[in-house]
Amino acid sequence: MSTEKVKCLIIGSGPAGYTAAIYTGRANLFPVLYEGIQPGGQLTITTEVENFPGYPEGIGGVQLMEDLRKQAERFGVEIRSGIATAADLSKRPYRITIDDEKVIEAETIIISTGATAKYLGLADEQKYAGMGVSACATCDGFFYRKKTVAVVGGGDTACEEAIYLAGLAKQVYLIVRKPFLRASKIMQERVMNHPNIQVLFEHNATGLYGENGVEGVHLVKRLGESNEERYDVAIDGFFLAIGHKPNSDIFKEYLDTDETGYILTEENTPCTKVPGVFAAGDVADPHYRQAITAAGSGCKAAIEAERYLSANNLL
Ligand code: NDP
Repeated sequence: MSTEKVKCLIIGSGPAGYTAAIYTGRANLFPVLYEGIQPGGQLTITTEVENFPGYPEGIGGVQLMEDLRKQAERFGVEIRSGIATAADLSKRPYRITIDDEKVIEAETIIISTGATAKYLGLADEQKYAGMGVSACATCDGFFYRKKTVAVVGGGDTACEEAIYLAGLAKQVYLIVRKPFLRASKIMQERVMNHPNIQVLFEHNATGLYGENGVEGVHLVKRLGESNEERYDVAIDGFFLAIGHKPNSDIFKEYLDTDETGYILTEENTPCTKVPGVFAAGDVADPHYRQAITAAGSGCKAAIEAERYLSANNLL
């Protein structure tokens, strides 16, 4: 297997990875960035981004990521396609295997591999992607003002998203597969008492329908042990809130993660327990998960990487 040495390796190409790339590129760390499974990250599967500062008219998610990429390239960042398939963080230089065929030996690593929203696995979720199906209410809720939407899930995220959407939409259905919500008490109370939210317990979504976008959802309601009722509800938007999976599997042997797999960092920093290895963006953030917060943590990781290299005479 071929080996290459770099000072700074960035894994992932969402807002955290590209921001880390811009900062480390400008700091002359000659970073190498591997794009990962989804070049451009989660923003490339949303349509319009209206809450990233600096774009008064909003900007397409794909365009925003292309702009970030160009900005990184301007500072000499080497951007490559490839997926990190294995990691050895036991000693420096740290070793990351790319596509099972090449090893990068890195003095510092910025892990910005993101998190992937879970979907139910219905074919219609793909069919209507960007046409009424979303996994982020904060990103897309605005497009459903005075409309009717459904949110799937019974945890804190689903409740939070339902409440957020209820402030915009005229009606929100919360589709919960169990006879109870898993969310914290306070969130449950808010959802149950909200006049615009109707909770559909013991319901599952089995499909979507519509001509040029989502117009409704097919539902199954469980009635006792062996009975069920099937019916349709008209909706304009279908939001998934059944959890995210952070893309941290290959690092778990070396880094602390929470029970879901989010990488744990020192408070308010991107520093992991391995010196010189930093985690930025959604892979380390179960709470905010926004492009701008990811970008901010990418910046912090880049500054920490520069300080680490400098302190260890590796510049
Ligand atoms: P959770 O894992 O807590 O909840 C996932 C929800 O989705 C559950 O209700 C689960 O149902 C449901 N679900 C999972 N798979 C399916 C499926 N295939 N079909 C239908 N429903 C499904 O994830 P969250 O993202 O809500 O929360 C993750 C963590 O982040 C939690 O610890 C949460 O407390 C925390 N969080 C805290 C917030 C806050 O404090 N403000 C805000 C957001 C998250 P079931 O219950 O049947 O398993």
